[in-house]
Amino acid sequence: MEYNLYINGASVATENHMDIFNPATGELLGKCPVATKQQLDDAVAAATDAFKGWSVVSDADRKAACHAIGKLLEEHAEELARLLTEEQGKPLNGVGSRFELGGCQAWTHFTADLELPVEVIQDNDEGHVELHRKPLGVVGSITPWNWPLMIAIWHVIPAIRTGNTVVIKPSPFTPLSTLRMIELISGILPKGVLNVVSGRDELGQWMSEHEHIQKIVFTGSCATGGKIMASAAPTLKRLTLELGGNDAGIVLPDVDAKAIAEGLFWGAFINGGQTCAALKRLYVHEDVYEDVCDALTEFARNMPVGNGLDENMVLGPIQNEMQYNKVKGLVEAAVAGGARVLLGANPQEGPGYFYPTTLLADVSDGTRIVDEEQFGPALPIIKYSDIDDAIARANASDNGLGGSIWSNDMDKAKVLASRLECGSVWINKHGMIQPNVPFGGVKGSGIGVEFGVEGLKEYTTIQAVFS
Ligand code: NAD
Repeated sequence: MEYNLYINGASVATENHMDIFNPATGELLGKCPVATKQQLDDAVAAATDAFKGWSVVSDADRKAACHAIGKLLEEHAEELARLLTEEQGKPLNGVGSRFELGGCQAWTHFTADLELPVEVIQDNDEGHVELHRKPLGVVGSITPWNWPLMIAIWHVIPAIRTGNTVVIKPSPFTPLSTLRMIELISGILPKGVLNVVSGRDELGQWMSEHEHIQKIVFTGSCATGGKIMASAAPTLKRLTLELGGNDAGIVLPDVDAKAIAEGLFWGAFINGGQTCAALKRLYVHEDVYEDVCDALTEFARNMPVGNGLDENMVLGPIQNEMQYNKVKGLVEAAVAGGARVLLGANPQEGPGYFYPTTLLADVSDGTRIVDEEQFGPALPIIKYSDIDDAIARANASDNGLGGSIWSNDMDKAKVLASRLECGSVWINKHGMIQPNVPFGGVKGSGIGVEFGVEGLKEYTTIQAVFS
């Protein structure tokens, strides 16, 4: 099936297309339109024009429009979930496509109800000063391939809730579900408020350089985040950058290994590990090391991996060949360096980019799978004996997205958690995010936050009004 761009309230065909394949079967799923520079300019011009009206629409009307989008997403949830499974690979069930569509609705309704009221910061004999929050203009959204619909919603809804207009560009690996979702939801907004263009990476660069885009909200790799920052510099764009992570979890000696196995598993293997804030390095105290390895292996071996359209599956394939080869290479290098395979590490020949759930013991810092973001279904388990050393190793990373402490002693865990250098830290769980809690990285994991009132503010600029 051939898909189109959606610009200024109309479906727009392109001359060129890219083939998009189902990662579970290798079969052709659809043809993604490749936008020209002119088509991007058209989308930005439509958004610029629509901004004049949308930025002055009443707050109540923008809130109602966002709730209407939430309702539409609910009505089309099953259609979008199936397309997402076929395109991205994640299963319909488990923490998969239906879960992602549920998240889209929840984030939309929650964000619709957020308010940024005028703040009076001075009211005395010397004067009255108010802070007003104003929209920025055209927001360019650039998304990755792991949670394509949820991340699109995270970008689009706060932008339009606050009166901006949007041009969104999905990842070239997973464009079809976003094209379909934006076509659906932009139909209930005034034309030009929400536009979608797709194509190759260069399209993202054109957006970052574009003189009529005021802000880029980007979710993706650290390397691309740096390129966007450079491309955006000449036009002084606002940026929100949600980048990669290499989250560490630290297990203290007082845990019950069996009790934490399920939490550790989903912390690491949600979406087959293709999640920014997944647990990617697990540090376990030597006293419970073998117990934790055994309990996690026992739990993991019973989690079925297969074609996500099969309702019994809880994990799907890796999304694309490049990522599959990366994970495979990191595991092979670790095993060649002496890692002990507890589970997996034995991929079968295709079809599909299926990689088995893999647990590696006796790995240490300095091994690539520990030091780099694997972004796939393979977890290194590292032994430690001294907690200060474990904290130092967890922090010895350019990234700082999330981290976790696993212990039965909550007070102790909280003190240790505060020593981790990351934007979110969890105790006895990993990776949980909520629409009311700001989420973002420190160090190389990004700039700015999303979600909640703090996230909403990032789509506005302050105007101080003196009277
Ligand atoms: P990626 O950086 O390769 O691509 C992301 C997007 O950027 C795509 O749409 C791509 O076309 C576009 N792009 C590529 N080159 C560009 C350029 N020069 N200028 C502008 N845009 C360009 O990332 P990915 O592989 O799709 O996603 C995986 C990465 O995203 C992982 O590192 C993961 O940790 C991170 N991620 C972070 C979060 C978060 O919230 N912090 C969430 C999800 C994923």
